[in-house]
Amino acid sequence: MSDRTDRELGMKRNITRRDFLNGVAVTAGATLMPWELFAAGDVDPQKSPSYNPPALTGLRGSHPGSFDAAHSLRDGTFWDAAGAPQDTGETYDLIVVGGGISGLSAAHFYRKTAGANARILILDNHDDFGGHAKRNEFRVGNAFRLGFGGTFSVESPAPYSKEARGLIEELGIDVASYPKYHDAKLYQSLSLRSKIFFDKETFGVDKLVAGPASLAGGEKDYDAPDNREAWKQFLADAPLAAQAKSDLDRLRHDPRDYFPGLSSTEKKAKLARVSYAAFLRDVVKVHEDAVKLYQAVPHGLFGVGIDAVSAQDAWGLGLPGFEGMKLDPAPGKGMNRDTIPNEEAEKYFFHFPDGNASIARLLVRNLIPNAIPGNSWNDVVLAKASYSTLESSASPVRIRLNSTAVRVKHVGDAATAKEVEVAYARGGKVYTAKAKNCVLACWHVVIPYICEDLPQKQKDALASAQKVPLLYTNVALHNWTSFQKVNANSVYAPGCYHTRVALDLPVSIGGYECARKAEEPIVVHMMKTPCKPGRPARDQHTAGRIELFNTTFETMERKIREQLARTLGAGGFDPAREIAAITVNRWPHGYAYEYNSLFDPFWLEGGETPCEVARKSFGRIAIANADAGAYAYTDEAINQAWRAVGELTKR
Ligand SMILES: Cc1cc2nc3c(=O)[nH]c(=O)nc-3n(C[C@H](O)[C@H](O)[C@H](O)COP(=O)(O)OP(=O)(O)OC[C@H]3O[C@@H](n4cnc5c(N)ncnc54)[C@H](O)[C@@H]3O)c2cc1C
Repeated sequence: MSDRTDRELGMKRNITRRDFLNGVAVTAGATLMPWELFAAGDVDPQKSPSYNPPALTGLRGSHPGSFDAAHSLRDGTFWDAAGAPQDTGETYDLIVVGGGISGLSAAHFYRKTAGANARILILDNHDDFGGHAKRNEFRVGNAFRLGFGGTFSVESPAPYSKEARGLIEELGIDVASYPKYHDAKLYQSLSLRSKIFFDKETFGVDKLVAGPASLAGGEKDYDAPDNREAWKQFLADAPLAAQAKSDLDRLRHDPRDYFPGLSSTEKKAKLARVSYAAFLRDVVKVHEDAVKLYQAVPHGLFGVGIDAVSAQDAWGLGLPGFEGMKLDPAPGKGMNRDTIPNEEAEKYFFHFPDGNASIARLLVRNLIPNAIPGNSWNDVVLAKASYSTLESSASPVRIRLNSTAVRVKHVGDAATAKEVEVAYARGGKVYTAKAKNCVLACWHVVIPYICEDLPQKQKDALASAQKVPLLYTNVALHNWTSFQKVNANSVYAPGCYHTRVALDLPVSIGGYECARKAEEPIVVHMMKTPCKPGRPARDQHTAGRIELFNTTFETMERKIREQLARTLGAGGFDPAREIAAITVNRWPHGYAYEYNSLFDPFWLEGGETPCEVARKSFGRIAIANADAGAYAYTDEAINQAWRAVGELTKR
């Protein structure tokens, strides 16, 4: 991608990331990673006083060591190597598999019914709790910086349910107070705005250009009457073919009815069955450069480009081409829930500096009060978790990390059993514990391998819950003067490895102060979806997942450095000097798969959806997780926990 040498890129510089390449310590005397502590004979790394996973850099998200047991189970090799499980002798009221927001919420709801003394064990295969709601910490000089390694914010395309909103309120989070903490005018006051980076491999030349909000994610769109000059400037600056520029102008400013003679319902039915890329190419007949420009716009929502998003959903997202089609504003059949506008939902937004990891931490504080010091909802932002207390014998609730559930079965027949036995792998050994009830709040694709007694139809439905792979990369910089020099705070880069680059959202809360001056350290967030345009969405996700598992951290790091150097080159960005730390949150199993009218006929035609079949309770085992609603949002993780616990407690 670039002609720069590793030395120019700073690949040999000593930053806080290369001590651990793919989880292998290469620096003498380096702190051992949690899974290495197991290997070193310490069976309980959580008990180590220095255990603080959010501060680890390098490859995070689904980090090395977190998935080996599950993959070995999938490959049918686990039990031969594992040996007989050891019985811990522990018995609980509830065992929850999965310590994400759904699992933590399940524990919370269960205690509401069963009482605060209910004994609960939560197992998670990662070295931290929170699942996708992952906290990243950085220290750059004297500055402490937070980043979100996954879930960005409280937000959802549809309003939060009574139960989900109730939980947020019970945790004390004052969603309406968000404007108090968000310095919404900061970047604007420094003349920074969103831009588009055209790369030479895709567009013939490297160029950073101010661009339309619908592409670049900015505040003011170029269709606004007072912004026509800026639109003209964009067309003049963009390195696109002359025909593409004229087509883009027509697409945005010359509304046409591309399906004359059809009713709104008939038009929507056609739009639901054609991708936006095909609509642009074959119906609007734009030049290929215009298609390339829009290709990555939906990456952040769906993990795929416009080749795998329907034109009807593009209409819902406000993408151009539909203004002259006289479509009834009511949602069309088969629309993705992400693309149905809802004003009430839009207003319900809150971003903590570590994203919804703060929600996970508040839930943990609620379940195990000593685990996270403090007593207000916003002091949790700076509070340091005491991981050793997650397993305190004095607490009725325990969170056992680095523990992969490998078998969940009733003790006896599912219809009459009084207990469920859960076997889990931890530190190379397998243990068992028993409980009266079990909530599987883990990823649905895992469940057929750990709960073999489920009916085949249900296993097939669970297996179809393909996760959307993503990289959420956080790069800590010593300063952001180069962003200031090129007047950009966020960049859409349709042809690059990471298709979005953005300075951290300026939020100061609970004693945490965001960077306000360009000379101060900051976290830059970058997003990649490893999609493979042209294939059905599920196939793209499978191929992308394999790519993420097989890409080394070194390769990712080189791509990050190259991309930042090229994008910010005119601002004098020096990747060797300015990068202080890199954390790549790798999520091969990312968003819950949301149904898509192009590939899921049931979503258009009606009938039972796979997630309804997948989430059916089985004896004393109930099934939660956002996958159970095929909806990749925090509120769904909570809703599904509420439903799953309700099914158990009503028995
Ligand atoms: C990168 C990213 C960004 C997102 N941004 C937002 C956002 O801004 N707003 C929003 O509302 N939603 C967002 N979402 C979606 C949201 O994060 C999820 O819907 C929600 O957090 C899912 O919670 P969960 O508990 O259902 O699943 P997870 O968070 O995935 O938790 C499930 C846990 O179960 C564990 N597990 C799996 N198998 C086993 C096993 N066998 N044994 C033990 N543990 C196991 C997993 O490793 C995981 O830790 C985002 C998702 C991702 C991936």
